Amino acid sequence: MNQPVQPLAAQGVFIDNTWRPAASGRTLPMIAPAEGVAFAAIAAGGKEDVDAAVASARHAYEEGAWGRLAATERGRLLTKLGRLIEDHVDEITAIEARDTGKPMKQARADAVAVARYFEYYGGAADKLHGDTIPYANGYFVATVYEPKGVTGHIIPWNYPVQMFGRTIAASLAVGNACVMKPAEDACLAPLRLVELAAEAGFPEGALNCVPGLGEEAGAALAAHPDVDFLSFTGSPEVGTLVQAAAARNHIGCTLELGGKSPQVVFADADYEAALASVVAAIVQNAGQTCSAGSRLLLDAKIWDRFMADLALRFAKVTAGAPEMDRDLGPVISKVQQRRILGMVAAAEGSGAKKLAEGQIAAGASTDGFFVKPAIYGVENPTAPLLRDEVFGPILAAIRFHDEEEAVRLANSTDYGLVAGVWSADGARAMRVARRIKAGQVFVNNYGAGGGVELPFGGVKKSGHGREKGFAALHDFAALKTMVFKHN
Ligand code: NAD
Repeated sequence: MNQPVQPLAAQGVFIDNTWRPAASGRTLPMIAPAEGVAFAAIAAGGKEDVDAAVASARHAYEEGAWGRLAATERGRLLTKLGRLIEDHVDEITAIEARDTGKPMKQARADAVAVARYFEYYGGAADKLHGDTIPYANGYFVATVYEPKGVTGHIIPWNYPVQMFGRTIAASLAVGNACVMKPAEDACLAPLRLVELAAEAGFPEGALNCVPGLGEEAGAALAAHPDVDFLSFTGSPEVGTLVQAAAARNHIGCTLELGGKSPQVVFADADYEAALASVVAAIVQNAGQTCSAGSRLLLDAKIWDRFMADLALRFAKVTAGAPEMDRDLGPVISKVQQRRILGMVAAAEGSGAKKLAEGQIAAGASTDGFFVKPAIYGVENPTAPLLRDEVFGPILAAIRFHDEEEAVRLANSTDYGLVAGVWSADGARAMRVARRIKAGQVFVNNYGAGGGVELPFGGVKKSGHGREKGFAALHDFAALKTMVFKHN
């Protein structure tokens, strides 16, 4: 990975299937997290570029070829793009790995997943149909799902490729024209994917992309008066700004704002399966996963044995550069590295005990943004390490003594994205799964491979709205009720 990635055909803003420089002419350096050095540059898009992108999308939707396409034709285009992405999996993998620092195997899984999103939503595009509703005599009532129009998509840096599939494929399937603002910390793979969309045959304006800083391009997109719906994934702080901007324009938005997701392990759980899952759910993507299993709530009856075994496993976990293909890569930036280390230092200062830590592979660059994965035992249920999202490979563990306490602890954060429940007692697992406030609950597994078919989203501070699965189509569509009086 010391060679530069293939230069992209162009690194600008992508409007009407054409690259152009940002109106300001400015660019932003892209830093490789495993190396700590700039290796590419992107356009620093701003308000003027967003205006042009939204105007192009509006035209595509109202008058252009995109708005006239039948649902089946849209589906075919999505499917075609999925196949084209499959043909470029190696290339997308290489770009994503260098840009985010994640291990090659994870980058490859993400590239495969984005192809699957387009396959799934390609098949779904012509299956979003309404109902007829029995009503008063002399009336015929039908509902129909229509596109919202122009949708704005602000995506984060942790899974740029998967986020592209998750939010863009579903919105295009419904027939919206999309404007995407990818994250300035990692966005090279999405920039390549918009190019592939044009190559697959998406008409001009169906998908425009304006990279740039959040407070410039992102804020301009969120505030744009001609955007009909916003999809945002990122921090709660910026989510609040996006929702306020949406409110000012009286439009809806989907917010996906992260979590502090618990793995609740009872003494009768499948011990080995739970152990492996607890490690994987926090190590994956260096803990920079909104649905990371970042809290372990462990039955006091097995605390000593389970924590000892967990410590042994954690000690073997190794971070390395993408091509080393270790368990995890670096975190995304120096800023995130400092933030994580600061949170950990504060936790240690207030009594959290480090129970185990992993390693950084020999040969990994000391300029890379590596963080040793670690487990902390916490006694105080209100400790920040148990409540705040670290967004790094740091697991906070606490014990519970009965089912009631387990549920109370599980629900004791502001977040509600995902939870895992491990127990051989089916009735108990069902009771706990029903009582946990979260958008997804997994019983005797965690994440289920992150299937694109599974509706995903949060409650509480984790946000609202659903992406993935068929549910996303409903969020990206406007339901129209049509009432015909016939006598
Ligand atoms: P962020 O919320 O700042 O960035 C997410 C996206 O929003 C990026 O594309 C960014 O450019 C854009 N953005 C930033 N400011 C904006 C603004 N004023 N208006 C519109 N768009 C704006 O997230 P971050 O700084 O990259 O990460 C900070 C924290 O957010 C992380 O530590 C983590 O806790 C959380 N996060 C969560 C997820 C998730 O999947 N839920 C993803 C990334 C980050």
